[in-house]
Amino acid sequence: MARNLFEKIIQREIPADIVYEDDRCLSFHDVNPQAPIHVLIIPKQFIERISSTEQKDESILGHLLLVSQKIAEKLGCKDYRLVINNGEQAGQTVFHLHIHLLAGRPLAWPPG
Ligand code: 5GP
Repeated sequence: MARNLFEKIIQREIPADIVYEDDRCLSFHDVNPQAPIHVLIIPKQFIERISSTEQKDESILGHLLLVSQKIAEKLGCKDYRLVINNGEQAGQTVFHLHIHLLAGRPLAWPPG
């Protein structure tokens, strides 16, 4: 089965500016940042999108959120936004679950 872009980043086949890594997840700077700080946090296991998760994914989902918080602290972000796009109409372009962490400028609400 063809591997997606983020799996290739996990395997170091595509370079990325890595911020954090552990046995379950990887975080790296977004190649097209939408804010002064824009990093992605992804699970190493393949999960297509948040709507495909089940009860068995509770641990990894919790881990991703806790890691996001640690990364925000590491990058000195006091105020920040975590975003998960689910599906094309919501802006998902890479079909491997990821959390966007955005910070470093005022963030408008509602988002576009
Ligand atoms: P989505 O639109 O699926 O929610 O987010 C995908 C994100 O991945 C986008 O913000 C996009 O800029 C980022 N992205 C796409 N290709 C690459 C890449 O090759 N390297 C990195 N670091 N980010 C990427």
